[in-house]
Order: sequence, then structure tokens, then C-alpha cells
Amino acid sequence: MSVNLPITNEHGFYEIRLESIGGLGANLIGKILGELGALYLELNSSNFASYGSEKKGTPVKSFIRYCDTDKEIRINSPIEKPHVIGIFHENLAGKIPVMAGVDENTVVVVNTNDEPDAVRDRLKMHAGTLICIDALKIALEERTRINMVLLGAIGKATGFITLDSLEQVVRDTVGKKYPAALEGNLAGVRRGYEDIIGTEYKDDGKYPYQEYKEVKRDWGYANAPIGGVNTIPGSTITNDVSASRQGYVPIFHEEKCIHCGLCDTTCPDMVFQFVQGEYRGKPSMVNKGLDYHHCKGCLRCVEVCPTAALTAELERDYDIGKLHVRNKDLIVDSLEFEDTGANSIVNTESGN
Ligand code: SF4
Ligand code: SF4
Repeated sequence: MSVNLPITNEHGFYEIRLESIGGLGANLIGKILGELGALYLELNSSNFASYGSEKKGTPVKSFIRYCDTDKEIRINSPIEKPHVIGIFHENLAGKIPVMAGVDENTVVVVNTNDEPDAVRDRLKMHAGTLICIDALKIALEERTRINMVLLGAIGKATGFITLDSLEQVVRDTVGKKYPAALEGNLAGVRRGYEDIIGTEYKDDGKYPYQEYKEVKRDWGYANAPIGGVNTIPGSTITNDVSASRQGYVPIFHEEKCIHCGLCDTTCPDMVFQFVQGEYRGKPSMVNKGLDYHHCKGCLRCVEVCPTAALTAELERDYDIGKLHVRNKDLIVDSLEFEDTGANSIVNTESGN
């Protein structure tokens, strides 16, 4: 099936940029959209992603370029002025410049349960069409993942990708790999495609246009120490207490905790804050809760907890900032906890 690209830039490209965090499946959606262009829409297409360590919670960008087959895609550079942007986690706003390159011609698709005017203010969106879709809610209802819902919404936002072609590419890709999840995934794509309404914003002077700028790191291949060094162990570069999970978050119920430490040994990111204390009248290491800076929402801790002292809850129902246990507040005897490190990164006399 061939399609006509609606508008292209000066190079003849139609461009999509996905802004996400690791674990939400944006990279997969980029690959699917790339494949869709070349194999199903009779376009030339390319896709590539930009990310750091492949860790849940780290910022991820994925880029998709399309052009007619009488042209070639010979560039592999980041997309600075996309026709469509998909924002997989609204809390990315303010942490990285997701609105770079957005103007009147851009369609911005955001995973949010908020109203467009509030989202525009949060994003500081200059102008363009804003599509707000509660991908998490739809994904829960349809037993799929938010990336499938956003695939439908982003496809619709382009104006030329049909629902049939999206369904076909999903059947032929993730459907073959995960057949048991196919119906849920297709339902998610359909809801994403059908449930969207755009709100147009003109350049009313409220928020300035943002130029796209590459973030330069202090260390690169030329000057980084051999083997690499993570200066903030256990943390991610733009991590805070909100933007690194997929909708669910572990919640700690201290009264049920027997301080067995299973959560701590299971957690890959050393989120739990154990300090010297007392349990049942005896000296013991006791669990004080979670440092959510480091939590990526994998929920392994919930699975292993023997007493249901950890439960998986919808993140949007909780003020995580108030539940958050900062390890720097837990200075106990000779243990001095670092502000930004995971709980096992401590300075002890024996460690010096
Ligand atoms: S696994 Fe559960 S009971 Fe054990 S320390 Fe962790 S929260 Fe407490
Ligand atoms: S969900 Fe639990 S196991 Fe996973 S990173 Fe967060 S605290 Fe650790």
C-alpha cells in the first residue's frame, strides 16, 4: 500500500521524534514505525535511537525518517524539527528539552491524564497541535503496554498512517514474538488511534520557540577513563523521584515489615534504606523505606516480599516526594550515607 506524505521538510523528509525513558518501549515503537514505512507504506525510511546505558529510567530518544522512494535517506542525525513528537512520560518535561523544535506545524502526542491547557503549560509548548492521551489507563484496560497505545496515537497524528497498516505491522512483529499478547496489543493500538483529539495552539507569545541543541557530556570516547566511571552510582543522570517508572511504583508498609532484607538483596538498584536499629527487642538492621531516586519500577521487590509490606500501586495516586526516604537523612553512628548514592555506597571507617 503506498501513501502520500502530507508535508515534508526542505530535504523531503517526514520526521518523527520519540522522547521517552528506558523501559517504556519507545525504542521498539521507533523500530516498528521504521519497518512500517519501508515494508508496508512503500516509503524509504530509517530509524535509530539515542540512549545511554540500557537501564530502565534513563532518557531515550528514537528518530524515524520517511521519504518518497524517488529520494534517499543518507543522513543519520538527530531530528531537530519533527513533524510529530511522541512523549512517553510527561514528567520528562523540564528535565530534558523535549519541546525543542516544536512550532505551529508540529503535532505533540503526550501520555498524560491531564487536560491540554495544563499540559501545554507544563511542557512550555510554543505552538502546534497537542494530543493528550491517557495511555496508561488504556493500557491497563486493554491489558497491553503504553507503547502500543502511543503507537496508535502517533500513527493517527501523522495523518497518513492507516490503522490497518499499524495492525498488520504489529501482527507481523510483536505478534509473532508474543502471540498471547497480540489481542491486547491490537486493542491498545486501536484505542490509541481512535481516542485522540488534538488542541491547536497558535504562537501567542506565551512560550518562546526552543531550538534543538545536542547535550554535550563532559566525558566522551576521547577522554573518559578506560572502563568508564559512573560518578553517581545507582542513579541516573536526570533521575528524580518521579520520571523513571511505568505507572506502577512499590509502596512500603512499615508496620508489616519483618526486616528480612529480601527486597534489598533483590532490588537491582539498591533502593532500600536499611539502618541499624532494633527489631523485636534485638539489635537489627531495619528497613526505613525507599530512596525513589533510584527506583525504576521493576516491582521485583514486591514479588519477593513475604509479608506484603511492599505493594504495587499506581504512581499517580501517591505523592512519592513525601514517601521518599533520602539516605542522607539516615546518618547512623559510623555509617555516613551519601546523598546521591545507593544505600550500599556508604563511607565506613572500615572502608577507608
Ligand atoms: S522483603 Fe518485605 S518484609 Fe522483608 S525487608 Fe523488604 S519490605 Fe520488609
Ligand atoms: S521496583 Fe523495587 S526492586 Fe525494582 S528498582 Fe524499585 S525498589 Fe528496586
